[in-house]
Amino acid sequence: MYSYHSGEIKNPGLELMLVLVRLIGFAALIFITAGAGIAAGLPHVVSGTVAGLFAVGLLVSGSFLEVISYKCPNCGTVTKSIKNYGSYQCPVCGTKSFITRDELTKL
Ligand SMILES: [Zn+2]
Repeated sequence: MYSYHSGEIKNPGLELMLVLVRLIGFAALIFITAGAGIAAGLPHVVSGTVAGLFAVGLLVSGSFLEVISYKCPNCGTVTKSIKNYGSYQCPVCGTKSFITRDELTKL
């Protein structure tokens, strides 16, 4: 009897899982969109390209919880935060900002 499943998940494993989930979601999105394009009678190359662009656009627009670096508009301090989290406060100068897409808007 093996008992590998202790329920404990270490951080590197969670990070790897997150990456895998995102990759699977990304691939699924491409296949679904490409399939829809083919069903609509579009050539494979066209639907594949559209699907790829669509998927990349979704990823870039922050459909997934993505950690990116933000630069404070006031003092220029770069801090890591979760995309589309909402409000943000600079740890150095205390400037409150609002995260919209991949930019910080000074309040
Ligand atoms: Zn600042």
